[in-house]
Amino acid sequence: MAEYSALSIIRNALSGNTNWKPAWRKPDPKPSYDVIIIGGGGHGLSTAYYLAKEHGIRNVAVLERGYLGSGNVGRNTTAVRSNYLLPQNIRFYEHSMKMWERLSHDLNYNVMFSQRGVLNLAHTPAQLDDYTRRGNAMRHLDADAELMDVAAIKRLMPIVDDSKTARFPIYGGLMQWRAGTARHDAVAWGYARGADRRGVDILENCEVTGFIRDGDRIAGVTTSRGEIRAKKVAVAVAGSTGHVMRMAGIDRMPIESHVLQAFVSESLKPILDTVVTFGMGHFYVSQSDKGGLVYGGDIDGYNSYAQRGNLPIVEDVMSEMAALFPSLTTVRVLRSWGGVCDMSMDGSPIITTGPLPGMYLNCGWCYGGFKATPASGWCFAHTIAKDAPHELNAPFTLDRFHRGTVIDDKGQGATPRLH
Ligand SMILES: Cc1cc2nc3c(=O)[nH]c(=O)nc-3n(C[C@H](O)[C@H](O)[C@H](O)COP(=O)(O)OP(=O)(O)OC[C@H]3O[C@@H](n4cnc5c(N)ncnc54)[C@H](O)[C@@H]3O)c2cc1C
Repeated sequence: MAEYSALSIIRNALSGNTNWKPAWRKPDPKPSYDVIIIGGGGHGLSTAYYLAKEHGIRNVAVLERGYLGSGNVGRNTTAVRSNYLLPQNIRFYEHSMKMWERLSHDLNYNVMFSQRGVLNLAHTPAQLDDYTRRGNAMRHLDADAELMDVAAIKRLMPIVDDSKTARFPIYGGLMQWRAGTARHDAVAWGYARGADRRGVDILENCEVTGFIRDGDRIAGVTTSRGEIRAKKVAVAVAGSTGHVMRMAGIDRMPIESHVLQAFVSESLKPILDTVVTFGMGHFYVSQSDKGGLVYGGDIDGYNSYAQRGNLPIVEDVMSEMAALFPSLTTVRVLRSWGGVCDMSMDGSPIITTGPLPGMYLNCGWCYGGFKATPASGWCFAHTIAKDAPHELNAPFTLDRFHRGTVIDDKGQGATPRLH
């Protein structure tokens, strides 16, 4: 198992970096495991890691249909924050934030967590009032939040158009300084390596094609690499949730799959030292360590399982960037891509036992599941190990939609595309 100490880095550098060992094994599937996790994204891998680390459950397999990190964990725009309004969300995401703050140390793997702040811009007095309320709610529950006036925003971000004649003038903003970005691939690789070294089998190119039942109970899965039995089967497949749950005979889920696009520009000198969101539409941008601007906006307005998007959103995103940063209109786009997001009806996730005996479900991450990766895996592992949720994920049930106890942070109602 590769160790990334200063000594091993020097030793490998001296031998031309040809002696590094793979960070995780490529085992063949065993006939059975204590726990199977379907989905080798951030959430599946972190769940496996915490099952082994926190609960001593090591006879675990993570089943990934493609290569590790090929889903949304490797496609997101890497923003990490806990700036929510409702207590259930603040508590959960703030727990995640605290885990991020020690994650590189915990995994002994640099996930490049950079606390450069996330700033939400307000473009009307009413929006600033709304952000003030949210900031107060956050501070009440131990998350950090600070209101910034226009002069402070201009000092932080000289390229922003702060003129009163701007199409959407800026009235101020809500800053969370401890928020920021992390290297998404490193998060997948770090959790994979950590889980593997504790005995977890990571099975790539292993697509789940059906479920094995023992009466009512889920007792395993059929896969492209054969049948695998398990005492417990956990589903963490993000945008493929509806598809996988249908294999288990559950036709209706409170989830819609939509493609979310992201863009990266050519490399520029350092011009933006924070993550910033535009309040008059949906646009967010940060600058990567390589200098590219990484940005995105709304999901495409139709359901899709395709990992590529369409032109109306491209136009939408570019026009919002031009409204905020007119000087960036000549910057060239280098690449764009898409990921399939699991949009829930209230914008909040589901981390729960069931809905069938022997099954556990993790989904509903909408635009924001990357920042949840540590807490999601930690809570899901607890839920699987104890057959009951931790108090942090107890509100995120599946039957809240049946009972009407939804957690609608934005107050948008049952319209997934608006969360
Ligand atoms: C463009 C974009 C930008 C985003 N930006 C942010 C952001 O800035 N901040 C943030 O917090 N979140 C962001 N997100 C959301 C975040 O990426 C997701 O919510 C999160 O990554 C989802 O969890 P995951 O990592 O486990 O999913 P995934 O990485 O998608 O993992 C699910 C895995 O399940 C596998 N799978 C599916 N079906 C099967 C099957 N039948 N058998 C075996 N395996 C299967 C898939 O191949 C996939 O690898 C963004 C998403 C996108 C697409």
